[in-house]
Amino acid sequence: MLPAYITHADCSRHEMGADHPECPERLGAINDMLLTKGLLDYMNHYDAPLATDAQLARAHGTDYIHSILNSSPDEGYFRVDPDTSMNPYTAMAALRAAGALVQATDLVIAGGVPAAFCSVRPPGHHAERNNAMGFCFFNNVAVGVMHALEHHGLQRVALIDFDVHHGNGSEDILQNDPRVLMCSIFETGLYPFSGENSKATNMVNVGLPSRSGSNKFREAITSHWIPALDAFAPQLIYVSAGFDGHREDDMGNLGLVEADYEWVTKRLMEVARRHCQGRIISCLEGGYVLSPLARSATAHVKVLIGAD
Ligand SMILES: [Zn+2]
Repeated sequence: MLPAYITHADCSRHEMGADHPECPERLGAINDMLLTKGLLDYMNHYDAPLATDAQLARAHGTDYIHSILNSSPDEGYFRVDPDTSMNPYTAMAALRAAGALVQATDLVIAGGVPAAFCSVRPPGHHAERNNAMGFCFFNNVAVGVMHALEHHGLQRVALIDFDVHHGNGSEDILQNDPRVLMCSIFETGLYPFSGENSKATNMVNVGLPSRSGSNKFREAITSHWIPALDAFAPQLIYVSAGFDGHREDDMGNLGLVEADYEWVTKRLMEVARRHCQGRIISCLEGGYVLSPLARSATAHVKVLIGAD
């Protein structure tokens, strides 16, 4: 069986206005690069289903879910925060994005599908249990994690987040759940200005200063993430794959290159092979300059599908 590539055309109908960096073209750029490199031939393609209320409610309050779905404008935009707006297609895109993680979870746990890449938007890792923010509405990866725990009964699930911004929403939803280990790395001093002083018992947060570069990034992962992951022995690994730490992406200043995303994916694959038959589910988060986004995501997917 081949790894899964899960996306949906609805995810490209959500947009937040001209010149907004979280733009529909992001998914097309990734798809085109995967196609050009021949990698799509090595993945099974799935159209993401819509997440159900019950699936979302494992990660979000029901009043919050309904407030988002009921805020969908008939035309124009409904502003959720200064950077985050809904157009008439946003609710459907957000349900597809969360549904992709549910489907990936079902496929990988059923066996046969070793890994999955969910190329979806809107992203999710800033969405808290009851709060949309930072381009995010529903926390896609948290919906997937909770589906693995509550529906499939897994006991130990790891969530990795290498987006340049701290995944405050994932931490808000999953903090202190002993079934979850969340390992994140992010640039300090950046939105959402959290993560450095977490008191949660299940978080391995590594904040790196601006211009840390490849070596510091790799050292931090080697010394902080890998021992924690090996001690936890996850049954399934999720990845919040944000590529906005790339040096050509002006959202952050970590100074990473696509070889770093290839490197970290290889380390995670090794952990997955040691503990969970190589089972990894990756979900797109940030990455806003199209060329480095596409190159970085392709380097990541190439390792996921074992073509490196
Ligand atoms: Zn980000």
